[in-house]
Amino acid sequence: MHAYRLHTDYTLKCQCCAVSQRFVFTSKSDVIVCGYCKPHYGGTPAKLAQQQREHAALYLNRLTQASKQRNADQVKHRAELEHLERIIAQKEAIIRQLEIELGDVHISIRKGEFNEAVMSWLIDERLTQAGKESDAALRRRESQERRVAEGTTNQGASIHQLPQH
Ligand SMILES: [Zn+2]
Ligand SMILES: [Zn+2]
Repeated sequence: MHAYRLHTDYTLKCQCCAVSQRFVFTSKSDVIVCGYCKPHYGGTPAKLAQQQREHAALYLNRLTQASKQRNADQVKHRAELEHLERIIAQKEAIIRQLEIELGDVHISIRKGEFNEAVMSWLIDERLTQAGKESDAALRRRESQERRVAEGTTNQGASIHQLPQH
């Protein structure tokens, strides 16, 4: 007997394999056991051996799926990280270039070749802009690195969540 409403969608843990899944009850006497487990659910010694084998296969399959998904996520995060590294390197190169230009401008100003205020302002604007873009890319890289690190430390978590039989 169960206390759930009939003909209603529920996400519940199978009482046999403990994997969460969708259940729709058609009778009050339905057991909360998934379709995969029904054939081995019972409790006779022969069924218990079958249950152990089939649960092992089920968990292994789920672990493989989870690990594939995690690897795919990691590859995506790494690609994004490399993209951000390239942006940062480009911006840093621009900043270095502008600093050289700024030095040249100061020399020209001393020689009386340029209007000091206008040239300084122009270079400052470009430096500020490149600095802002570089900062934004750095921040995105940090959060991306965090995501990659979290993905790594989470490895194996699903093993601990498996129920004991
Ligand atoms: Zn099950
Ligand atoms: Zn089972």
